[in-house]
Amino acid sequence: MTEHFDGQDAWAAALRAHGRRVTKQRLAVLAAVERHPHSPAESILAAARTELPELTAQSVYVVLGDLTDLHMLRRFEPPHSPALYETRVDDNHHHAICISCGRVEDVDCAVGHAPCLTPHWDEKSKPMTIQIADVMYQGICQDCQQSQKQTFNPPLQINEK
Ligand SMILES: [Zn+2]
Ligand SMILES: [Zn+2]
Repeated sequence: MTEHFDGQDAWAAALRAHGRRVTKQRLAVLAAVERHPHSPAESILAAARTELPELTAQSVYVVLGDLTDLHMLRRFEPPHSPALYETRVDDNHHHAICISCGRVEDVDCAVGHAPCLTPHWDEKSKPMTIQIADVMYQGICQDCQQSQKQTFNPPLQINEK
């Protein structure tokens, strides 16, 4: 209970620091994203509505966009998925996504600090000063590997008595 309240205090302070009013809508959206990291707008709306039933889809989209611009939320877009949001914004972490079920896991920055990867520029390109490297790992999660084994190995069961 106290922790939840501390979170709200921190968000209220951050909103004020960005010159935003502390509104029930903004706090409800932040709390929902905190509880459900890597969620699409639709799930955030559903979660935030449990606290604030009068919340409209429109205002959730507006708040999500605004908080992302302020870097209070991070937005990323995996392939074949709607944009996902999270409150973990202060590090250069990457994401691993399961290509089978869409499960998303955080992956810590590979070298411990941004930009984590240094690109190689060939002669034809104009090198940029890199600030962020955002890597999307794609693979198969353990649950999906488990269920694929069960699906693909029926002969084992026939051999057993
Ligand atoms: Zn999976
Ligand atoms: Zn993340």
